[in-house]
Amino acid sequence: MRLEETLSALSAKVSGTRAKDVAAEIARFHRTQASPGYDEALDVVRERLAGFRVATRVHEFPADGRSKTYAWTSPPAWTVRGGVLAQTAPDEKRLVSFDEIPTCVAAHSPGGAFEGDLAHVGKGDTDADYAATDVRGRVVLACGRASEVTKRAGRRGAVGVVVYPNDERSAASHDLVEYHGIFPTAEEIPHLVPAFSVSRRTADALLRRLSRDTVRLRGEIDAEYTDRPLRVLEAWIDGSDPAAGEVLLVAHLCHPRPSANDNATGSAVLVEGARVLRGMANLLPPPAGIRFLWVPEFYGTLPWAAAHTRELGRVRYSLNLDMVGQSPERIGEPLRVFRAPNHLPTYVHALVEPLLTMVASLSLAAPGGSRRPLHWCYDAPSGGSDHLVFAAPPHRIPSFMVGHDDPYWHTSYDTIENVDPTRLEHVGLLACALALLPQSVTNDHRLFGWLLTYGAREFARASALAQDVDPESGHELLDIAFSIESNRARTVATLGIDERMAELLPRHEVALRGLRDHFAAFLPPAGQRTARAHAERPTRRVDGPLVYAVTDSFTEEEARFFKDKLSANHRALAEGLLSLCDGQRTAAQIALQLSLDIGHLIPAEDVEAGIALLRKAGYVA
Ligand SMILES: [Zn+2]
Repeated sequence: MRLEETLSALSAKVSGTRAKDVAAEIARFHRTQASPGYDEALDVVRERLAGFRVATRVHEFPADGRSKTYAWTSPPAWTVRGGVLAQTAPDEKRLVSFDEIPTCVAAHSPGGAFEGDLAHVGKGDTDADYAATDVRGRVVLACGRASEVTKRAGRRGAVGVVVYPNDERSAASHDLVEYHGIFPTAEEIPHLVPAFSVSRRTADALLRRLSRDTVRLRGEIDAEYTDRPLRVLEAWIDGSDPAAGEVLLVAHLCHPRPSANDNATGSAVLVEGARVLRGMANLLPPPAGIRFLWVPEFYGTLPWAAAHTRELGRVRYSLNLDMVGQSPERIGEPLRVFRAPNHLPTYVHALVEPLLTMVASLSLAAPGGSRRPLHWCYDAPSGGSDHLVFAAPPHRIPSFMVGHDDPYWHTSYDTIENVDPTRLEHVGLLACALALLPQSVTNDHRLFGWLLTYGAREFARASALAQDVDPESGHELLDIAFSIESNRARTVATLGIDERMAELLPRHEVALRGLRDHFAAFLPPAGQRTARAHAERPTRRVDGPLVYAVTDSFTEEEARFFKDKLSANHRALAEGLLSLCDGQRTAAQIALQLSLDIGHLIPAEDVEAGIALLRKAGYVA
């Protein structure tokens, strides 16, 4: 089946309405990792899959605040049953309750009751924030992350913590209540105090009152740490040709109720995809196997991947669905597909745009769904979710992500009303088509056309960047682009291509060389590149993605540099930098390759400083 035929077969089967029904069902559960709600949602997904005769298996990993995968410590299993925060003086009123707004209790907060006078400490996530305020016996109000505030306030004798959204997060609504998670280690748990999250409106009223009066709050949280495991649900459809490898599709199932777009939608599209692909495989088994994972984000994905390193060796590429149902009318556009970084080249890079163009041209509209044309964008690599686990060593799988920007992300406003069935249908089609790519394009000669279109644009981008560096670096930039594009084209050979396609492969490389030479002619001739031969070639020494807390070992100035210069695209830049520390490249070469990934010049000095910081954090030898 050619790509167009695959898409038209899929479009007759994929239903956004059905996917939205599943998303609504998942969104009913409070799905903190290793909690009863998460397990109930997993059971819903598993029952659906059993109904479609899709094979599944559940994997369990400890959630004890101690077990480590690479530098990542598992969160503790945690169950919450309720929580109420009230003001007791100068007058009595209820502020927020778990029954109405589940995000009001910070995930992993200890249970218990507290009462105390309120103390505002600004962000509350640095020691300096507490310098002028004695918080002993008091309730701390802050706009930093609950994970940071709770640890600091607890150590200083505060009895409880209330966090509220900063200006940026509250811009979309003064009534949204943010999701906060503490993710403590077992050692940190005894020092924590109960933590609530409230809206900006509630916090502003408290602050107004606090400027005139003593304000007293009482909070009570019914929650406990348990010994429930982290659960990962795996499903698969066998391929007919073991040499064709596998495609991996992943979505995280965790987060508080409702967290509809993040990520009941990705999980639901995966369920719909499994249904459709199973049905199609019954008629014509695909050459490449298809594996599906529903995970607790990062914390379940990491131990699962570490335990399946050999199996992951068969995976050619992966796709992470993370926030995929945003209504264009209510939330906005575009649908964003994030590229895999260039150091993990695959022919799939060149097929995403043709596929999206084909999906858009189908003018889909689910009943009751948006009728707007699909507006998409193919974006630079991003961090922030499970694709990083598969892209990082030891797996090194080219990993893409699909998602949206969403002002209601990680808030009580991420509700099912904001999920559009048409958008789910778009993403379902895209995901299924990507899963079936090896079947659709293996001996399609157009593959080289798509690759050349993609490669020519990459050379043009490299050439534009090359204008702004010295001639040696400019030529090196084009050489790096050439090596990326020829490696990308060579992955076509993993498809089990016929003789004719195999003959086209070296000719494609000649064309790429021609492009490189064409753009090189715009640059002044390069001088000697001798100095670089002796430069240091850093090597990473820790597998897995960077931990969030990597900045903990930095000074405030270093942390600010890391945030300002290396954290672009949800830290994709730092993640790419670390992965390029492979013992083969100098800081200058890493900077050039990163520039191609991100689309603007990354100064070599920034990369050098970044390497020094990652060395300080223990990530680089
Ligand atoms: Zn999330």
